[in-house]
Amino acid sequence: MIDLESAQARIMGAITAMAPRRVAAGDALGLVLAADVVAGEAVPPFANTAMDGYAVRAADTANAPVVLRVVDEIPAGKAPNIAVEAGEAIRIFTGAPVPPGADAIVMVERTERLDDGSGDDRVRIEVAATLGDHIRPAGGDIDAGQTVFAAGTRLRPAHLGVLASLDLYDVLVFARPRVGVLSTGDELVERGPLAPGKIRDSNRPMLQALVREAGCEAVDLGWARDDEALITERIAHGVDTCDALLTSGAVSVGDYDFVKVAIEKLAAARGGEYTWSQVAIKPAKPLAFGIIGNVPIFGLPGNPVSSSVSFELFARPALRVLAGDPEPQRVVVAAVAEHGFARRADGKVHFDRVRVRVDEDGHYRAIRSGFQASNVLSGMANAEGLAIVPDGDGIAPGDPVRVMLL
Ligand code: AMP
Ligand code: MG
Repeated sequence: MIDLESAQARIMGAITAMAPRRVAAGDALGLVLAADVVAGEAVPPFANTAMDGYAVRAADTANAPVVLRVVDEIPAGKAPNIAVEAGEAIRIFTGAPVPPGADAIVMVERTERLDDGSGDDRVRIEVAATLGDHIRPAGGDIDAGQTVFAAGTRLRPAHLGVLASLDLYDVLVFARPRVGVLSTGDELVERGPLAPGKIRDSNRPMLQALVREAGCEAVDLGWARDDEALITERIAHGVDTCDALLTSGAVSVGDYDFVKVAIEKLAAARGGEYTWSQVAIKPAKPLAFGIIGNVPIFGLPGNPVSSSVSFELFARPALRVLAGDPEPQRVVVAAVAEHGFARRADGKVHFDRVRVRVDEDGHYRAIRSGFQASNVLSGMANAEGLAIVPDGDGIAPGDPVRVMLL
């Protein structure tokens, strides 16, 4: 057996980011910037009001309450026609440009419009304004020429909004990896009635969803029977059409474990590398990893829980590196064990599926999510985290436990 860190380090050392490419900002959600984004213009582009109210000269309001003449009105989207002179105010609406001469906005709630019927439009300002009140200066958010987002930023919805505010409609990002997912096993059935000895393929939809959740594009490579030539052909097809591959099943020490053989032979034929390890973890001990040409391939175990835990520990961080993410790891938090995490020493780190709750003191609490066996996928489905239970006699109730948040 090799320890988890060595197995992870070997994989991470073999992966590099995808080539950068220019992508429409609308398609860039979740992608990672390959270059700094520099603003070509200021945001906001002009000084504007944060409030509905009156644009005034602050000095005119020093002895408030005062009465000023209303000389114009500026709704959002209109440019000012005239300046505010001494003794004057201009009615203004949120987002409208601050007119020349004005240096403060008085919010409408602090004013009273006076109409004495004479046609002389006036407003009473109830409170003295301070210079700059409720004015959002030009460039107050972003200055022209400023680096807005650094290379390595993973684009979230607000990033796309900022890009639009800068008139940037495409961005240089690391390409979204296309990740093929292949199931193996004579026992698998996709839909419909089960013949004796058959089970349904749960790994493929799960792994495709994990791939998408990891910010990659999932490519369905179907499933292959336990046949060396067939599995080799399917993997070769995946290598030709994808940036990375995941397979499930056929990597243990059984007679039908042809994925190992297929990866080894393809890596030898096309250049690359191949390793098969027994990693000192439970679940997900067996792991086949290879590079065929330049396409990494993860031969994940067949048991569904093992498959998803192996994905989390090995494939996901590698896919994030492929996607250019400088922080590819899941977050690990310190939690309190809601109950004992009993176990025996076996030389392995155990990853228990847990629900994660926050108690009234704001501490994470880790609660086992059902029966812990590598074929019990419902426990994984209900889990928000993997509790990391180190080798030894387990963790006592109330003791600290580290949890990787999923
Ligand atoms: P294997 O590693 O191929 O021997 O598979 C280990 C266990 O996982 C066996 O019980 C398989 O039936 C099961 N298994 C393999 N692939 C899948 C799959 N795609 N969906 C559900 N169970 C699977
Ligand atoms: Mg199998």
